[in-house]
Amino acid sequence: MCGIVGIVDAGGVSFPLYYALYALQHRGQESAGISTFEGTTLYTHKAQGLVAEVFNSQTLQDLQGNAGIGHVRYPTTGSKVPENVQPFNFRYRGLDLAIAHNGNLVNTAELREEYEHRGQIFCTTTDTEIIGNIIADALRTSKSMEDAVLLCMRRLRGSYATVALLNNTVYAFRDPLGIKPLCIGKLDNGYIVASESVAIDALDGTFVRDVRPGELIRIDESGLTSTQIATANRKAYCIFEYVYFARADSVMDGTLVYDVRRRIGQKLYDANPVEADTACPVPDSGIAYAAGYAEQSGIPFIEGLMKNRYMGRTFIMPTQQQRERAVRIKLNTVRGNLKDKRVVLIDDSVVRGTTSRRIVNMIRDAGAEEIHLRVGSPPIIAPCYLGVDMPTRTELIASGKEVEAVRESVGATSLTYISLEDLVEAIGCGEQNLCTGCLTGCYPVEINGEKSCHCVVDYVAGTHQSDLSTFKAGKERT
Ligand code: AMP
Repeated sequence: MCGIVGIVDAGGVSFPLYYALYALQHRGQESAGISTFEGTTLYTHKAQGLVAEVFNSQTLQDLQGNAGIGHVRYPTTGSKVPENVQPFNFRYRGLDLAIAHNGNLVNTAELREEYEHRGQIFCTTTDTEIIGNIIADALRTSKSMEDAVLLCMRRLRGSYATVALLNNTVYAFRDPLGIKPLCIGKLDNGYIVASESVAIDALDGTFVRDVRPGELIRIDESGLTSTQIATANRKAYCIFEYVYFARADSVMDGTLVYDVRRRIGQKLYDANPVEADTACPVPDSGIAYAAGYAEQSGIPFIEGLMKNRYMGRTFIMPTQQQRERAVRIKLNTVRGNLKDKRVVLIDDSVVRGTTSRRIVNMIRDAGAEEIHLRVGSPPIIAPCYLGVDMPTRTELIASGKEVEAVRESVGATSLTYISLEDLVEAIGCGEQNLCTGCLTGCYPVEINGEKSCHCVVDYVAGTHQSDLSTFKAGKERT
């Protein structure tokens, strides 16, 4: 769970990178960073905090150049320490390499041990540093960055959408199963690659297409080229991107996320109709779901909860009492919309169950007669090893519990989850093209001690230029 962006633009990149990161802020609030390259210098500014806290006009003006990458971080692998803030910079044989990554490798420990055994020193605990080291090592024997990325991708197991800045060229590559999203946009004077299409929209760019699983994109001042490094017999798009993580206005691998959530809302009603007075979303993640639910059921969409949009990052509160008060500042009930009402409460997911329990309590305190909780994902029963921050099985409320026990625990009148079948249908690309690890306990990559589904990846021997995807800034090159 991180956001990445890479831009080459003749008009300078620091401000566009900043706006793109702003659009991707929901993907990580822990830290933000930008690296740019100009002449012979790699410039970097990065720190812990939100995008608006980390950068100001001076720091952005200091980030010179027409090529750069950016990152917002949500910590998964690696603890919340300042040295883990990305992008990471490497200097190697006269080349400057900056790299930023979204995803999680599952063979980090093996790779790290191998490289440490060879004498490599690591400064951080992140996967990104490992990817950077493998690329630098591969560049010693490779003729090109394409060859180095090929060697690197052969070694990596897990999810990785990566942007790299090698002097003034931006590279972007996506793991062979496409677990993490990455897309391409056209700007007036260049190109952008970003985790979500909303970053392209923020710059008034034109969406071109998604980066294909296993594809490497190269952008420099003469345009964009593509190399297909790996192909697989299936894809494994993260199902949780559609359920919770991506912005609803993003188009991800051909599908508008809002449409998926709306269809899920419709299916939630069809699978389990209930008589009620209001369809009430848990803001903000439940809104598109509740819109679909209301549309299908005819039950009016009425907000019973209001979120304070100005709260910023969660306050650090030393006592339980203060933490509870902070929750009340963040979310409040619209009592008049709830009192004596039969409420269908719609949310995207129930993970630990603490949020649902608290919200159900608040709605009951506001005088609701019945609270029918409808959830836009099936029960989450297994951890995510591929980049979404999920707790262990013991902390997951649905792991090893029947739905009735979860209902009782959160205190709702009734509880229904969407079925996996309905969810897959709402996304529309087939279960074989989705990672459903957190819902089924079966993962698309091999993970020690877990079940994995059949998946074959072929790596191209040498590099192979793919057909359609060579563009020149401003117009398509044939
Ligand atoms: P809880 O059941 O208390 O763990 O909270 C679940 C709620 O947190 C969901 O309704 C989501 O809106 C949100 N959520 C789901 N997954 C995550 C995640 N990985 N990180 C942060 N928030 C999440």
